[in-house]
Amino acid sequence: MEYSIPKGVFDILPQEPHKEDAWRNSAHWEYIEKIIRELARDYGCREIRTPIFERTELFVRSVGETSDIVTKEMYTFTDKADRSLTLRPEGTAPVIRAFVEKQLHLQRPIQKFFYIAPMFRYERPQAGRYRQHHQFGMEAIGVCSAEQDVEVIDLLTEFYRRVGLKNLKVAINTLGDLDSRTKYREALHKYFEEHLDRLSPDSQARFSRNIMRILDSKSPEDQEFIASAPSILDFLSTAAKSHFEKVCTLLSSLGLAWEISPRLVRGLDYYNHTVFEVSSGQLGAQNALGGGGRYDGLIASLGGPDIPSVGFGTGLERVMQTMERQGVQFPSPQGPFIYFIPLGSQASEACMKWTAALRHARVAAEVDLSGKKLQTCLQTANLLQAAFCLVIGEDEQLSGKAQLKEMATHQSKEIVLDDLVERIIQYHQEKKGKYHE
Ligand code: AMP
Repeated sequence: MEYSIPKGVFDILPQEPHKEDAWRNSAHWEYIEKIIRELARDYGCREIRTPIFERTELFVRSVGETSDIVTKEMYTFTDKADRSLTLRPEGTAPVIRAFVEKQLHLQRPIQKFFYIAPMFRYERPQAGRYRQHHQFGMEAIGVCSAEQDVEVIDLLTEFYRRVGLKNLKVAINTLGDLDSRTKYREALHKYFEEHLDRLSPDSQARFSRNIMRILDSKSPEDQEFIASAPSILDFLSTAAKSHFEKVCTLLSSLGLAWEISPRLVRGLDYYNHTVFEVSSGQLGAQNALGGGGRYDGLIASLGGPDIPSVGFGTGLERVMQTMERQGVQFPSPQGPFIYFIPLGSQASEACMKWTAALRHARVAAEVDLSGKKLQTCLQTANLLQAAFCLVIGEDEQLSGKAQLKEMATHQSKEIVLDDLVERIIQYHQEKKGKYHE
């Protein structure tokens, strides 16, 4: 085809695509987004929407000059005035940029934000990895305590619970404070120096640029060296150790299942103290569902006050793919409450009027304008999962009565056309729980 979709991206469509791609159904996205909004409200988070592109320097500065995102994955372009702009590859930096720029700390010292937004990364596309993906993310700004870290982790795991996911692995680690990391980097340097020539080319480059990133490597040749590398847990300062121990204790007291993963460093530069990642054994190579951590220095490094923060991002595509693999049922999309099938143009006119009146009264109504045979129209009513169906032909118009058919039970009852709108509104009220919320 002449015009086809670019590589690594996908459409979210209203109809059911073939089975294994059901996560691309827009009704499922609507369902997930509704869960997110309810969850965010329960946890006191307010929505933030930032532009899809930002100045390139924002990501270079915050995500880190040596990170994979900045070195390989950004969609960067110059606009007509020669400014370098970048499509948002992650959500934290734009939120913090907005927070600093609008001085939101003056409104409230402690704030929790959430976003649902597309992210753009130029990565090699494969199952679970796209060039545009969507993240639900949250940022809790203003509190430096372990309690805040645990609230954020609890929010993330509660999200997975509400969408019906099970058997997820919650891995946590700490990157300590500056003091802990300085000592740890020295130890890593000593250790990896001995194995340098056997590391992957990427990790060899990381050795001098940002040594902790070697621990993030997915290259098979690096894995045995990563497994025996020193653990940051042996280099923690007293303060960092006590913060991490508190996080662990609190997580357990909330009844969350978790494990320490001492090699978990996450790919971005701005983390310190607690980092975490949730993964699913059912996602193959791209098994991370979501992750985040504390990034206390970021606000100050972007020109704001020295305020701590912690947050996460979780990929919605992978969440929905895991739901599918675990056999979680998505609710079926709601069809119209009533489906009118007019036979002839006079009937069409009457049905149009009723449809509009019902819609204005907030009853989902549909009129079949196809002009097709009755049988075909009934099939459409079924396909759309209409709750009721009403056929209006010449006989019905002459007699002023019609048969209102409940699609699920195949039972019909007579309805007088003169007070049809009132009656349908009344049925809608009565059947609310059954068909529509
Ligand atoms: P990150 O900021 O890299 O930790 O990403 C947060 C989450 O976004 C990951 O755990 C994934 O669920 C999701 N994610 C990141 N990159 C991609 C991608 N290229 N395609 C699909 N999902 C992604």
